[in-house]
Order: sequence, then structure tokens, then C-alpha cells
Amino acid sequence: MLTNFQEWIIFYNKIFITIRVTTYAVMEPPIIDVHVHAFPDDVAKRVTEALRARYGVDGFYPCTVESLLEVMEGTNVSVGIIQIYANSPDKVRLLNDWGAEVSIRERPRIYCFGTIHPDMENPIEELERIAKMGLKGVKFQSTAQRFRPDEPRLFRIYEKMAELKLPALFHAGGERKHVDPIYAPPRSFVEVLSSFPELNVILAHLGGYRMWDQLRAILDFKNVYFDTSATNNELSGSTLKRIIELLGFDRVMYGSDFPWFDYRKELDGIKNLQISEEEKRKILWKNASRILKIPYTALA
Ligand SMILES: [Zn+2]
Repeated sequence: MLTNFQEWIIFYNKIFITIRVTTYAVMEPPIIDVHVHAFPDDVAKRVTEALRARYGVDGFYPCTVESLLEVMEGTNVSVGIIQIYANSPDKVRLLNDWGAEVSIRERPRIYCFGTIHPDMENPIEELERIAKMGLKGVKFQSTAQRFRPDEPRLFRIYEKMAELKLPALFHAGGERKHVDPIYAPPRSFVEVLSSFPELNVILAHLGGYRMWDQLRAILDFKNVYFDTSATNNELSGSTLKRIIELLGFDRVMYGSDFPWFDYRKELDGIKNLQISEEEKRKILWKNASRILKIPYTALA
């Protein structure tokens, strides 16, 4: 039998816990970053050097899983989705194996998209492996992999991905340094989106890095989504807001393009947008959780 005093203690404890949980939910909404990069430790350094030589890009952080987790910890990001890509066919299997291993080891903080190279020999077989290993989708980097998204040789790959319910995340638009040709302008997705309505397509950099004036061509498709990566270091808050409004609050997901930019600037750019709290929650985690099926338990 509890004494009156003990009952009061239990009652006050319950209230205290309720207040703490509610405050936590209000103050700290979970954050999913759908577009980060990391590589196996032994190649991370070489990747940074290669990108510096090719695009004049310097990373803000080392592109390792360890450095990614440290930045996520410091900014209260719950989940990071590594976008793996191979710039040559011979690296595909190795990188997919690495991604599967990292996602198991770091669950639920890290998930990975796998990679397919358009020139590889058995992409269909590799897609089946990607699905079986639990990778979340497939990332394509048209500049590094030198292909246009609407080239017919890619179509059997898209068809298989739709069948396996693997979404595709494409680099879209230009690069930080001028490149010629630009392989993936917004228009290059029109045929992909119309021919493969069952394929969920996520276009990085809000649909076309530095090509935001061409977005109207793809707005009407139901299977297109967007991430915000690399835009906060490029666009003012009001321009960013205008573009997100055009694309729609239900299909834009937060992405940072870690480690290439100042992480806080990317995240604060979204947090400081002059939009409603619910619209922010959609961008910061709700859309990603729904579209990429990230379980709610990963966000606690
Ligand atoms: Zn990227």
C-alpha cells in the first residue's frame, strides 16, 4: 500500500516527465539529411584530392563516416543518408558492399543509397543485390558518370528500379565550376519521369543547380521529389523560399551535400526560412520519413 506521500511523488514525477517529453518534441524536431557523402576511410582522401583537381571543390570536412557522425551529433541531425556513387564500373560492387556494411554498423543513424554505373556489365543483377542488401535507393551522378539521364541505355535500369521499388536520386543541374556539357539539366528528366511513372525520382539541389529558371518543365509529374542540398550556400532565404513554394512543401527534403559546404549554413538556411513550423517539419524530416520509409524509431 502506497502512502499519500509516495503517491504524490509518483504523480509529480509523471507530470515532470510529460513536460520534459513535450518540451523535447516542441524544441527538437528530428532532422533527416537525405544527401550526404562519405567514402571508405582509405579512399576518402583521394576523393577529396580528385574533386579539388576536377571541379575546384574543397571539402569543409573530411569525407569519412566518422567526420559525418561528428557533424550530425553537433547539429542534432538524427539520420544521414549517404549517397554513394562510383565514377567507374569496377568500383560499383565494392562501394555497394561498403554501404551495406556501414548501414548495418551505424543503424539507425546512417542509411545508404547504392550506386550503379551506366557502363557496367550487369546492372540488373547489381540492382537485385542493392535491394537485397537493404540499400535505400540508387544515386546517379551524371557529371562524374558521364551520361544524360534520358539516354535509352538507362531505361532497363529505371524499369528494374521501379519493379524493386528503389528510388533514384540524381545530381541535377550544373556544378560549382563550369562544366561542359551539363549532362543533367532539369529538362533531361522529362522523359524519365513520363516513361517511368512508378519510379520515384529525387532531384538534388532543388531540381537543377544554378538552373532553377528551368524547373517548370518537370513540375507536373507526380513521381518527382527534391532535396535542398548545396542551395543554402548559393541562394538568399527569399529566393530559396520562392523555389520551394514552386516545387511544393510536400516533396522537398532537407539535404546538405556534406562535406562540401558549411554544414550549419545549409541547415540554418532551412531553419530560418520564413515559413510555418509545419512546413519546416515537412522539409526537415516528415517528407523524407514518408518517401524513403525511414522508421519513426530512427528519429527518437
Ligand atoms: Zn552530392
